[in-house]
Amino acid sequence: MAVRPKYSLVIPIFNEQAVLPVLFHRLDRVLRDLDAPAEVILVDDGSSDCTPIILEARAKTDARYRFIGLSRNFGQQAALTAGLDRAEGDAVVLMDADLQDPPELIHQMIAKWSEGFEIVYAKRRKRSGENWFKLTTAHYFYKMMNRLASVEIPRDVGDFRLIDRKALDVFLQMREQDRILRGMFAWVGFRQTAVEYDRDERAAGETKFLFGKMLRLAIDGLVGFSDAPLRLALWLGACVSALAMLYGAYVGVTRMLANDYVPGWASTIVVVAFLGGFNMLLTGVLGLYVGRIHNEVKRRPLYVVRKTAGLEARSTPVRLMSLNPRAAAERRDPHLPDPS
Ligand code: UDP
Ligand code: MG
Repeated sequence: MAVRPKYSLVIPIFNEQAVLPVLFHRLDRVLRDLDAPAEVILVDDGSSDCTPIILEARAKTDARYRFIGLSRNFGQQAALTAGLDRAEGDAVVLMDADLQDPPELIHQMIAKWSEGFEIVYAKRRKRSGENWFKLTTAHYFYKMMNRLASVEIPRDVGDFRLIDRKALDVFLQMREQDRILRGMFAWVGFRQTAVEYDRDERAAGETKFLFGKMLRLAIDGLVGFSDAPLRLALWLGACVSALAMLYGAYVGVTRMLANDYVPGWASTIVVVAFLGGFNMLLTGVLGLYVGRIHNEVKRRPLYVVRKTAGLEARSTPVRLMSLNPRAAAERRDPHLPDPS
């Protein structure tokens, strides 16, 4: 039986054929310098280019690499989850494939981990190659999140981080559908610390996070970690109702005092339109939360695996099963290979 790795690297990859050669080159150097065996879990998130072929070939020829091919594009967060589900290391590192997260930083993360921190996240000191718009929106998003959300999500931190097995086992029990991993890890707690780095430009290829996707991530984060929009809706609703009542009283009084009173068409229309729009807004806010419930009750698997390579010879996740029976039950989900 193969030795169980001490470190696992989980990399979600979507149409990144251009960066893969550089990625493997940099990873090989990092792996060589580690003090213990490591595995690299390459998760193909339904790429349409040559990515899956390259990754699978890698996993078949190099025992340190493993390949998981998803059946379609499930998104970065789901792809990360697929890798985390199969990671065997005592410390697991999440990183991007495009080398914006320098793999060499793993050494510093491991040093912090050895000091006893369970989560070591990488904090961006400077972010080159990202436009003003992305930086500003990200800044205000985190500012708002930390005011509204029930957990503090560190600023300028992506998914690039090291997680100890203890924290990972808790995370693996969190099978929610709408996943913002950085928020979920903030929720998990434990002793967390940061190592700082300069975020480079992409080594090759293009960003997969355009404005629409970023906005979705932002709304998911807000709705997933805060009920502030619901509470805001409640207060706004109460305020508008109070104003409407005052206005009604005013109309009643003028009606009684004036004898040539002409019913105001304009004000009626204004009030009706205002309340109509307002109701729609509140319904929309409710819809956001109801939509998430709807997503949750379907209890679909978080991702579907099409193919794997390099995972055959490994020990089954016995550690996890003995640690926590619920995760063991989850592990027998149809989207995971049978542990026997
Ligand atoms: N990615 C993925 N699935 C997606 C989108 C992205 O697995 O649907 C991967 C991508 O290949 C990369 C990482 O997630 O390894 C981060 O994506 P990207 O670099 O495009 O995001 P950015 O750094 O621009 O925020
Ligand atoms: Mg990137």
